[in-house]
Amino acid sequence: MNLATAIKEDCILTKKTFFNTFAPVLLLAVICLPLAAEDNPLLVTPNTPFQTPAFDRIQIGHYLPAVQEGITRNQAEIEAIANNPKAATFENTIVALDMSGQLLGDVTGIFYSLLSVVTSPQMQDLANQMAPLLSTHNDNISFNDKLFARVKAVYDRRASLKLDPVQRYLLENTYRGFVRSGALLDEKQKARLRDINKEHSLLALKFDDNVLSETNSSYIVIDNKDDLAGLPDGVISEAAETAKARNLEGKWVFTAQKTSWIPFLQYSPKRNLREALFACFFMRGDRDNDKDNKAVLQKLLVLREERYRLLGYKTPADYYLEPRMAKTPAAVTEFLKRLWTPSLERAKGEAAEMQKLIDGENGGFKLASWDWWYYAEKLRKAKYDLDDAALRPYFKLENVQQGMFTLAEKLWGLKFVERKDIPVYDPDVRVAEVREGNGTLLGILYMDFFPRDTKQGGAWSGTFRGTFYKDGKRVVPFATLNGNFTKPTAGTPSLLSLDEVLTSFHEFGHALNWLFTDSRYRSNFAPTDSVELPSQMMEHWVLEPEMLKLYAKHYQTGEVIPMALVEKIRKSGLFNQGFETVEFLASCFLDMAWHGLENAANVNVTRFEDKLMADLGLIPEILPRWKSPYFTHIHSGYQAGYYSYIWSEQLDCDAFEAFQETSLFDKKTAASFRKHILAKLGTEDAMTLYKRFRGREPKIEPLLKKRGLL
Ligand SMILES: [Zn+2]
Repeated sequence: MNLATAIKEDCILTKKTFFNTFAPVLLLAVICLPLAAEDNPLLVTPNTPFQTPAFDRIQIGHYLPAVQEGITRNQAEIEAIANNPKAATFENTIVALDMSGQLLGDVTGIFYSLLSVVTSPQMQDLANQMAPLLSTHNDNISFNDKLFARVKAVYDRRASLKLDPVQRYLLENTYRGFVRSGALLDEKQKARLRDINKEHSLLALKFDDNVLSETNSSYIVIDNKDDLAGLPDGVISEAAETAKARNLEGKWVFTAQKTSWIPFLQYSPKRNLREALFACFFMRGDRDNDKDNKAVLQKLLVLREERYRLLGYKTPADYYLEPRMAKTPAAVTEFLKRLWTPSLERAKGEAAEMQKLIDGENGGFKLASWDWWYYAEKLRKAKYDLDDAALRPYFKLENVQQGMFTLAEKLWGLKFVERKDIPVYDPDVRVAEVREGNGTLLGILYMDFFPRDTKQGGAWSGTFRGTFYKDGKRVVPFATLNGNFTKPTAGTPSLLSLDEVLTSFHEFGHALNWLFTDSRYRSNFAPTDSVELPSQMMEHWVLEPEMLKLYAKHYQTGEVIPMALVEKIRKSGLFNQGFETVEFLASCFLDMAWHGLENAANVNVTRFEDKLMADLGLIPEILPRWKSPYFTHIHSGYQAGYYSYIWSEQLDCDAFEAFQETSLFDKKTAASFRKHILAKLGTEDAMTLYKRFRGREPKIEPLLKKRGLL
């Protein structure tokens, strides 16, 4: 168990912006139910506490008519802005545009949230029907010349408008959204851009499909029980289930899914099988078959180069970095390099320690990449002897939840009151109203902790509705916190693993960010490399002794978790950090290198990656966490952005030091963190906000210290 290592990937539902979508697709079929508008709970003001969504009344047939109505109303709003006979002003153009589309936003906010937690084939069909409707609608806005002319007219006069920083940020980002979608291009260029977008989206789908197909078709079958030696019972029964699902009853199947191969590599002493299984994983998309992704990747990169050159950028990386906190590819590379050297040194030390273990056992071989998990596990056990099962009794879900609430109360005076009268979409969901110390309502929090068949895996936080000001009054947000935590069983409550505790504090941090946001406008432009600051920040409190006393109590005896056990956890947190950091950073470098190219057409994918890793000095015992042919992140929102996780970690480690410099529950520091970060992220430049909180730019040392690299 490595508490410091868990770089959590893909856990936040960011607001969907409708810029940069791809070419319109014709709508083939629309189910229209003959519902009168007044019968559709999505089209009327809900008669519920705080006007929360009427989940007790919303039915599947309500969504499409509501989305269509939302689009119609939004189109009318857009036309009214674009054809306004008065000269364009900040209010009648930029603010009007920001305030438009509320119904559509509310309906899609509910629909896409539920699609992840109570999905069904009907919901997925509906999503497929909505996608082209929404993308066409989106194109109608971003390619509306009259509208853009007015936005540009306001933007060009920005210096004389006397805007405050929040207004200026809204204006600049609105304008930039249009420009980055191609609004400044001539008709011929726009046509080419649309073609590129279309081809690119199909290729990106193909890339993902190939990875999925290769993941599903790469596995090892074990039919000899002896080959299961060393594996925990749970891992074995899981493998038997997997075999059964593939009509291989009586055998055991291990696949290229991380949840399958990692435990095998961790526990199996069978070196040849470890090698075979690891190859199932790292050879995906690289087998020169019809699912090979090397040529697909190259085509994607060539298209990206053309797209961003058309839009006026030197390389794709320059385009992607522009709105981020890091701002330039050079700043990212410099940051990564500062982490790389100490991480690599540490990883080399870890490898040497494992080699010693192998030699001590007269293994007679050199440590290879498929051996790492096995020997790391051996060392971990020998050094720390930490058992996940011994920790769980101290982390009953209700206690952990109360711990999060207590923390928010100590830092910001918040009160959480359970509301059983607010409609929910599943009986497992719990709802709390969140109030300031003075009683003001801050927002509503929906907590959905347990797995169900209709829910996607992992943990995340989102909103049914964001916050903004309407007629001078704050519209309160409806935030969600979703997990797939260990369920209670007959006689035993839900007892969380340490990783689950960290995850729930993490998602609670995202939820607090939604709840605290205090924004005049609906648009939020939080850069990708800043959004994990509020969430990762909350993880820092989890294992602080003062905090543990407040919540980590044995579910049967009420005894606080023994400090000796906490000390063990802390020490083990630094274990294997060289490896974890190096395999992650190697992929960050790879991502940046691919997007920094100016001529991908002349590159051999394999040689390019090999040369980059050789130049970095990566040791052969470690592979990049994602190799090029299956690096799906860099085609789905994390282009030149895989570094974002560790960039945010630099921020949260540095930010938490502000509490260490004062005290763990320091109210003044908490108030400043709320005022400058939690309430404002996405409404002003992120680095400016950070400097207001910390008085300076973030330092890298706290991150190095946390990972034991200093
Ligand atoms: Zn997150």
